[in-house]
Amino acid sequence: MRSESDTARRVSSAEGGTAGTPGVEEEGPETASVDGAPGRSMADEALRFDHVSMVFPDGTHAVDDVSLSVKPGEFVTIVGPSGCGKSTLLRIASGLETNTSGSLFVRRKSLGYVFQDATLLPWRTVGKNIELLAELQGIDKAARAKLVESTVDLVGLKGFEDKYPKQLSGGMRMRASLARSLVLEPKVFLFDEPFGSLDEITRERLNGELLRLFQLEGFAALFITHSITEAVYLSTRVAVMSARPGRILAEFAVPFPYPRTHDLRYDPTFAQLSGEISHALRGAHT
Ligand code: ADP
Repeated sequence: MRSESDTARRVSSAEGGTAGTPGVEEEGPETASVDGAPGRSMADEALRFDHVSMVFPDGTHAVDDVSLSVKPGEFVTIVGPSGCGKSTLLRIASGLETNTSGSLFVRRKSLGYVFQDATLLPWRTVGKNIELLAELQGIDKAARAKLVESTVDLVGLKGFEDKYPKQLSGGMRMRASLARSLVLEPKVFLFDEPFGSLDEITRERLNGELLRLFQLEGFAALFITHSITEAVYLSTRVAVMSARPGRILAEFAVPFPYPRTHDLRYDPTFAQLSGEISHALRGAHT
């Protein structure tokens, strides 16, 4: 974790977080009593879906009976066929959608969200984009400047603060997007296939940088990708979802300690685990 000295830092609401959503245990006491598990401690869980289903008003059954938890310090990745409900799950976690049954336990006030596209505002500089969420939280100007400075450093964008998004490469735009959420020091980070549109080398480099941040910042992560290699490389656990309506078919623990080196991708144990996940995923497409 970053030192107290560069706080002015504080944790605040994620984009889209709403209070009082039915079926959601919001920020509150560290220990929450939850449906079916009275007295179960929230302190050791950052995020939990309990039998969550989602049927959209047009009848599309997107997610079916998903139970999945992410503990502090865990990096959990979901892989599954296109359209199986992965993004819907993240949108439910963030409060952008409301599950039609089941329960969700999340501290929305400490949630960060990185989308598929960098979603930077084109008329604001990189620095001003990174500052955005802190500004919306009402953090004062001097504190914001400090936050932006330390975060820009963290994601390797020093010297690019005054550029506009269109002047950046895809990888740098994604770093800026990551920085914008990092400013608020989220305890739980949702990643909706953030590196899917990047070339392989840039993606591998950003995978390494993301893991460095994961270790440094100590957030819990729920990540979506189509790449099995990316899933295994990043995660402590990989969950495989079925075709729509998405259910969790299998979960795989990833045994490699952090920090992980680039060459881990060529380790025989890595290949074997990737093969097992691929096998489960092929089953998911049928
Ligand atoms: P994934 O992220 O796994 O590709 P999504 O979660 O985006 O899948 O979508 C799951 C399914 O739900 C898809 O069939 C999609 O078309 C459908 N869907 C997503 N949002 C809505 C909506 N607002 N109304 C109706 N159907 C939706």
